[in-house]
Amino acid sequence: MKGLPLKTGRDFVFPGYKVRYAREYWFKIRHADIYIRTDVISRSIRGRVVHYIEMIDDRGYIELDAVDMSLKAVRINGSEAKYSYDGSKITIMIPRGLGNNFQVEILYESKPIKGLHFVLPKSNDDYPQMWSQGEAEDTRYWIPIYDYPNMRLTWTLTAEVPSIYSVVSNGDLLSVEDIGDGYKRWRYRMDHPMPSYLIALAVGVFDEAEEVVDGIKLRYLVPKGMGGFIKNSFSKTPDMIRFFNEYLGVRYPYRSYTQVCVKEFIVGGMENVTATFLTDLTLHDDIAHKEFSSDPLVAHELAHQWFGDLVTCKDWSNIWLNESFATYLEALYTRKDKGEDEFIYELYSDLKSYLEEYSKRYSRPIVMRIYRDPDELFDSHSYPKGALVLHTLRNIVGESKFREALKSYLSKYGFGNTDTEDLRKVFEEVSGKDLEWFFDQYVYSSGHPVISVKGEYEPRDRILKISIKQVQGQDSLETYRIPLRLLIRFPNSVIERKMMLEERERTIFLEAEEPPKYICPNPDFDAFAVYEVDEDVEILGNMLEDPHVFCKLLAIEGLSKKTGSRVVEILAKALERESFWGVQAEIARALGKVGGEDAKKALIDALKKIDNPRSRRAIVEALGNFRGDEEVAKTLLGILSNPNETYYVRASAATSLGKTRIGWAFNELVKYLDTPSHAEIITRGVLQGLANIGGDDSLKVILRYLERDKHTMVRVAAASSLGKFPGRREVVEKLIEILRTDPSHRVRIAAISSMEELKNPEFLEVLGEAAEKDPVGFVRRRAREAAKRIRDHMEKGTEYKQLREEVEKLREESKRIIERIERYEAKGAGV
Ligand SMILES: [Zn+2]
Repeated sequence: MKGLPLKTGRDFVFPGYKVRYAREYWFKIRHADIYIRTDVISRSIRGRVVHYIEMIDDRGYIELDAVDMSLKAVRINGSEAKYSYDGSKITIMIPRGLGNNFQVEILYESKPIKGLHFVLPKSNDDYPQMWSQGEAEDTRYWIPIYDYPNMRLTWTLTAEVPSIYSVVSNGDLLSVEDIGDGYKRWRYRMDHPMPSYLIALAVGVFDEAEEVVDGIKLRYLVPKGMGGFIKNSFSKTPDMIRFFNEYLGVRYPYRSYTQVCVKEFIVGGMENVTATFLTDLTLHDDIAHKEFSSDPLVAHELAHQWFGDLVTCKDWSNIWLNESFATYLEALYTRKDKGEDEFIYELYSDLKSYLEEYSKRYSRPIVMRIYRDPDELFDSHSYPKGALVLHTLRNIVGESKFREALKSYLSKYGFGNTDTEDLRKVFEEVSGKDLEWFFDQYVYSSGHPVISVKGEYEPRDRILKISIKQVQGQDSLETYRIPLRLLIRFPNSVIERKMMLEERERTIFLEAEEPPKYICPNPDFDAFAVYEVDEDVEILGNMLEDPHVFCKLLAIEGLSKKTGSRVVEILAKALERESFWGVQAEIARALGKVGGEDAKKALIDALKKIDNPRSRRAIVEALGNFRGDEEVAKTLLGILSNPNETYYVRASAATSLGKTRIGWAFNELVKYLDTPSHAEIITRGVLQGLANIGGDDSLKVILRYLERDKHTMVRVAAASSLGKFPGRREVVEKLIEILRTDPSHRVRIAAISSMEELKNPEFLEVLGEAAEKDPVGFVRRRAREAAKRIRDHMEKGTEYKQLREEVEKLREESKRIIERIERYEAKGAGV
């Protein structure tokens, strides 16, 4: 299908973006010995690295990435070398006649602004931490190296730190020795070749647990004092390793696996080979354990040890090869651990998060070569959409071929790099199928299919006519090839029709003795598409009784777009009989959307019967739609004030209570501002509730919770609440100050989202600055998007103004015409 007009997407590319291919190298670093000495408090390091170089093409020099370092010496095989340094690249001249293999030694000092992060404690009984985050291209901020995923090297890492600290790094811990002056020296060795972005270093004071599973040494490290939470977050690690070993047919490739939780981590988790780093926010107590789980995060990072680490994408445009597999294997573990319903609901949630990005931000092909910062590609196209593409692939080749292909891919490319074509070819070899069409439509083209299904029964001829249409819009292909399985339920029987849908419209006719109760497309979400079941309320009601979770979800979507008492009645009944929390939650959301007295009653009744906190949370969120309702407000306050309710349910109650805007909400909400909870979720919920109320008093509280001594996630909630306060000087100034100076990139992103909400042109200047200079790629991207939205809004404003002026002109003109006619008529009358 080469030459197929693929779609390139919308709103992803900004002016000045370039096409990027994998970086070229003419030498290889075979091995590196890295030495770091640090005193965490001074936020600086002294380093020494020895690279074992092999020249591939003798250009007479090599280039290493190294940002903002102070170089003390550069030597080749022990002799001083000629070099130049421009603050981001060291160019080292290689003397003639040296041969192709030599050692380059660099001594340097650095105060890294990223790559290596220093966290100083907020209280006296806490310890500082230091940890690295290499991906995408930040290892170069603390080690001079070739910093791109297509080169693999082995290394040793030696860290000298004050004796109170422990050090975590990749591979085997070789030794820990006392070296005097209150320092210890820790030596680690990674003896499998890996890309530079996986080099890891964490320094801190930890509580620790350890176990050996199938010969693999597992370690769990968490900040001192939090050891009691290790079990809730990590107890399934052995089960996950066994599951992946078995499912992938390739055993966990290393001797040990360490998971360490660090403070203020800038992402959720990072799959540093054998040494995953995770945010400490994932740690939680037994109350939170009822509604919060670390399992998806732990499974995701573990899956990366195969997909991402053992086999690595050769360039960033292929990052989905790392992320989609981690996301999909996380879902497959859910299926193993919690069953089919949870699995399908997780995929459905993946679809929702992709559609959120697709509809509100941009669309792009999954493999995208045009970008500015690699960070931009770590999005919902690479993760959830990629996972859904793999799910579809699994259904097309079948479970056993899918697993065979994964095994073959991992075995063939183990400790190597790949692009998407390598994956396609393995799947083709194993399955015997041609899959170019599949990768073209799902991976190399933007958008997705939207499938609409409608049945029509003609009683006279006893014929069921089923119309299937592809109704996707502009940035998607005109036509997709979709495996489609229709489940057609009659009162006393059920039949299935399988087909490969290849045309924009297809109609099928079936003989049937009676009309079907409903028709559900791809009941196991067999293929990635958006499905629309265009049927009336009764048929959707019937479909809501199907045993397949996916059919129920489609029915709920259909019903939530309708109105009327019958819709509420159907949803309310379903909420009573449904036992799976995911479906309960979606029904609750639909009831909140449809609204009305009966919906309200159904939701409040459900709170008396449903225990699952995840369902309760959705119900409480839905109740936020009943503005000004005293009964709803009292119910929500009852939940917020009840210590037997779980944290997340109470937090959502606070937010919804604010949304009701009932007169007494402010005075009640502020009482719960400092209620201790997991990741301060209740405080965050209250702040959002206050933002929903608005007004001077709310704003005052929100500004107070933005202060630097507050928990980062609380400050994020406060910053993102400011978008609800338009037309206030202090808000504009605060947001600008945050984006310019706040140390947390999460808080800066929250400020950008508030700026976007306020659409004030005054933000354009600071957004422009951030789009160029912010140290974090995600922030730069968000700033660009927000500036564009504000500009678009202004243009619409001017368009509107122009339109109004034109209307005024027309009015004036017609007035004059009328006057002229009147004069003319007057004259005529005089004739
Ligand atoms: Zn990942």
